Amino acid sequence: MRVEYNYLPEQFANSEEIIEEWRLLIQSGDFTLGQWVLEIEGLFAKYVGAKHAIAVNNGTDALLLALKAIGVGPGQEVITPCNSFYATTGAIVALGAKPVFCDVDSRYQIDLDRVEELISGETRCILPVHWAGASPDMNRLVEIADKYSLYVVEDACMGIGSTINGKSAGTFGKVGAYSLHPLKSLNVMGDGGFVTTSDDNYESWMRTYRNHGMVDRDHIRMFGLNHRMQPLQAIVAKHQLRLLPDFLQRRRSHAKYFDSLLLNNEFLRDSVLVPERFEGYLETFSLYMLLVDRRDELVEYLNGHDIDARIHYPIPLHLQEASNYLGYKRGDFPVAEEQADKLITLPMHQYLDKAKLDFMYEHLVNFFGLHD
Ligand SMILES: *Cc1c(COP(=O)(O)O)cnc(C)c1O
Repeated sequence: MRVEYNYLPEQFANSEEIIEEWRLLIQSGDFTLGQWVLEIEGLFAKYVGAKHAIAVNNGTDALLLALKAIGVGPGQEVITPCNSFYATTGAIVALGAKPVFCDVDSRYQIDLDRVEELISGETRCILPVHWAGASPDMNRLVEIADKYSLYVVEDACMGIGSTINGKSAGTFGKVGAYSLHPLKSLNVMGDGGFVTTSDDNYESWMRTYRNHGMVDRDHIRMFGLNHRMQPLQAIVAKHQLRLLPDFLQRRRSHAKYFDSLLLNNEFLRDSVLVPERFEGYLETFSLYMLLVDRRDELVEYLNGHDIDARIHYPIPLHLQEASNYLGYKRGDFPVAEEQADKLITLPMHQYLDKAKLDFMYEHLVNFFGLHD
């Protein structure tokens, strides 16, 4: 038995419907924006419960556009967790602003007890991440931001389908940014993304900026960029969006089963830490992460036994070479640093089954030598 991390060949094994619709696109010759991009924008806005969605060509661009829309630029600071994928901070730096890192909590989310002490006169925005497809307490985060009149932009790149009491990730702040990268919950055959907002002015600005700032062919309102989603990918996204509720339901039930195997083994509990799952929070399990002892050995052991375990990520952002100019040092964010040494990501996708989950569990038990 092999437990693969990459489920894409299975997910796209039968793509006839997508290919059929691609034929219509090819016949139309409508290759920039056009009807399919408009259609997926409407469907996505409805799915997350935002007033507007604007389709862009990846999650990094979505973050850039979102931060640019609220006016983030040189001389300003953006508070963001130190354990995200590089693009969250990359977008801040690309706009000439300064990332101010925040430590994380035991659920790997931005630590809301630490945010207020990081706010300065230069702070423009808080940029939380729905890391792994779980969410920080967004209601509390928005309260903190409101208290200091700060904007909230959400990195919901892994959070398409995550909700807090029914409200979608990406819809708590001013603008939400999402990715359709192949290993996100809603994925395409390459790159894609969205920004969402319920504010008409931000919508209009982002929509225009996404397409060179053009009002029409002969007039521009501002100097914008090209962040357009490809119609080919809009078609893929439309078909995947129909399947997403079923995918998420299966992932959640796998994660729940696996959590319960681990939590019910009292010997394993000392060596393997399952993060708390908050009541009312639906997660996407884009990453199923545990904190384990002897992590590097365990990854090697599992990989040697046909289980494609991975690490997201071994070095937090503030300790990356790219952050040298910011002056952080080891010890600044002890929780994130400890997690970076202990985190392991296991496959938890929709194509697993009970036998594969049991197989992973047995190998964890064997590694720690702790049969119950
Ligand atoms: C994937 C990801 C991004 C970047 O999205 P791309 O579509 O790959 O550009 C940004 N932030 C987080 C948290 C992500 O997981």
